[in-house]
Parts: sequence; structure tokens; C-alpha cells
Amino acid sequence: MAHKITLIPGDGIGPEVSLAAKRCIEATGVKVQWEEVPAGEEALKKYGKVLPDETIASIKKNKVAIKGPVITPIGEGYRSVNVQMRQTLNLYACLRPCKWYEGVKAPYKNIDLAVIRENTEDLYAGIEFEEGKNATRKLLKDINKLSKKTIASDSAISIKPISRKATERIVRFAFEYAIKNKRKKVTCVHKANIMKFTDGLFLKVAKDVARDYEGKIEFEDRLIDNMCMQLVQKPWDYDCLVLPNLYGDIISDLCAGLVGGLGVAPGANIGETCAIFEATHGSAPKYKGKNKVNPVAMILSGVMLLKFIGEEKAAQRLEEAVKEVIKEGKRVTYDLKADKNDPTAAGTSEMADAIIERLK
Ligand code: NAD
Repeated sequence: MAHKITLIPGDGIGPEVSLAAKRCIEATGVKVQWEEVPAGEEALKKYGKVLPDETIASIKKNKVAIKGPVITPIGEGYRSVNVQMRQTLNLYACLRPCKWYEGVKAPYKNIDLAVIRENTEDLYAGIEFEEGKNATRKLLKDINKLSKKTIASDSAISIKPISRKATERIVRFAFEYAIKNKRKKVTCVHKANIMKFTDGLFLKVAKDVARDYEGKIEFEDRLIDNMCMQLVQKPWDYDCLVLPNLYGDIISDLCAGLVGGLGVAPGANIGETCAIFEATHGSAPKYKGKNKVNPVAMILSGVMLLKFIGEEKAAQRLEEAVKEVIKEGKRVTYDLKADKNDPTAAGTSEMADAIIERLK
């Protein structure tokens, strides 16, 4: 029976890279019934909403989606489409594998890291108080009284909630991911020496969860600042990283940079009932419709999707095909060429064609 999958083409380069991923998934022979639904700027033009109800309904029904990057119009009062999706569908885990493929220009070789970011809490919870507002003044008064420390009266405030429940859920996700993917170690990243109660709780819960995996998966922790330095100096020493939302966001980009940048960085947002697979990169509007950008991040997100729906063999074949095309270095997009202006660089669809040919 065909897998039912929601496809959100997205904005800017989204439709081009989504089509490339769709064609590659189909070329593995896995039967898919696609349900195409809109989100972002395109959805706003056509349906008057950046995230139409039918899009959420489709993901809830099919439980799996692949999504191109979307644009949320700035300054017009729209909430970020991505944040809305994560919150509405409770996609609590952001998984970003960062793997180096032979042929990719990158500062390091042979890196294979997995960044696992908590997606629902921390400074991204969206609980903010604007400078000068009544609610902010009231909050400042209460904080100054309760904490016996003084916050300047012209301050704005962002709240950083970290809960036991959400931490346990993400750390368990990290350990289960490590086991399923034959990984060896989970590193919890935090700043518990300064934020004793929030990051302190994250670390404490992580240590508690780690006890359940003793003897199976190694566990350690690092301070976020030290982690940044160590990832730059000796990234090979790390395996799976589990982090609160903000550090996770920053470290995901750092790790994408270690393995060659946005063109090759896939990702997924996973919840208890559904999952959305998408590249780390955005909609790169200046390349829209130019058939120029690298489709690999989106195709590798497709590899993750295939694994997720139990099509392990198809996932392996597709990843192998991507690997071979990158290694050969001929029919690859400009960003994978030694010279970015190389006239022999392939377009988005031609690179997808090269990958599909390897699957035959
Ligand atoms: P971006 O990732 O779209 O582009 C930054 C630069 O990275 C591009 O100019 C390009 O040089 C390079 N790049 C990106 N993808 C590439 C690819 N596949 N191949 C080769 N090079 C690539 O980031 P931005 O310019 O900060 O954001 C543009 C828009 O995308 C914004 O509206 C932003 O909100 C949105 N965005 C969406 C998502 C998402 O939907 N998941 C994620 C990030 C940004």
C-alpha cells in the first residue's frame, strides 16, 4: 500500500528543492500518495492565511510531511509558520544529523554528529514583555521584590521556561535515537553553572534519564561555551548532542558549517504523533526559480523520512546515490564545485537527475 505523505512545497527555492526530493523518493520505488498543501507566503496569497487549517489537518491525518522552506511576512503581525507548526503539532524534537560526505568542501572530514534540540521551551517559548508596557512594569516590580535583585526599569524581559517533563522527553528521545542508530554517546549541553535552576534542571533530568541507559550508551555533559570550542577543535570526539532550544539552534548551524554548510544539512521536527522533514536552510529568495541551489539538504531530509516510515533499504540506497554523485563531483550544484562560478555546475533538477540515475 502507498504511504500517504503531506508535501508542502514552500516559498522561494522551496518548490524546486521539494520537487527534487519528491522525484528522488519516488525513484527508490517506494510507493507514495502525495497530498500537496500550502504554507507561507504563497499560502497567504492564495488562501489569505500563512498556515491554512487544511495544511495542519493534512499533516495530522497523514502523520508525516516533507516541507520546503517558507517565508513568514515580517512586520505584518503574522506568527512564524514554523513555530506555529511546531506548537500546534507538538513537534518537540528537532533532529539535525550533520554528516560529512566525501567531495564536500568543509573544514573537517569524517564528521558524523547528531544534534537533538528541544523544540518547545526555553527562550523560544515566546513569552516576552516589551519595554515600557504596563505588564512589564508590573513584572519587574514583582521580580525585584521576589529576587531581591534590581532589574533596570527600562528593560524588556524574555522568559526561559525549562520543565522536567519536556527535558525528560527530549533526553529520552536522544538516547533512543542513539540506540536505534547504533551510536555510542550522548552529550548534554547546558550552562548550569550560571543558570542553576533552568539549565541546572535540564542537566539533572538528563543525568537521571542517562541512568536508564547505563552500559548501553555513554553519557557526559559540557558547558555550551566549552562545547563550541571543542566542536571547532575536535568534533570527532562527539556523537549525539542534546540541548535546550536556544543552544540547539545555534549549535545546529555551527555543526552544519562543520560539514559543508546549508546545502547539505537535512533535518526533522518530530512529535509523538507526527513528523515534518525539512532542510535546515531557508527559502533563499534571490535564487527563486533559477534552478541553481543544491537539492541535497532536502533529498537527505527525504532519506530521514524514508527511515522514519520504515523504508530503511530505500533510505540507504538514496543516501548512497547522493554520496556517489557528490563524490564524483561532476553533476553537482555550484556550491559543491571548487569554484562557485564553474560553468559546468549542474542545476537543481540536473543534480536530482544524476542522483535518480544512480538509483536505477
Ligand atoms: P537562507 O537559508 O534562505 O539563505 C541564506 C543563503 O544560504 C542563500 O543566499 C544561499 O547563498 C545559501 N543557501 C541556502 N540554501 C541553499 C541551498 N539549498 N543550496 C545552496 N545555497 C543555499 O537564509 P535567509 O536568507 O536567512 O532566509 C531567507 C528566508 O527563509 C527568510 O524569510 C527566513 O525566514 C526563511 N527561513 C525559513 C526556514 C524554514 O522554513 N525552515 C528556515 C530558515 C529561514
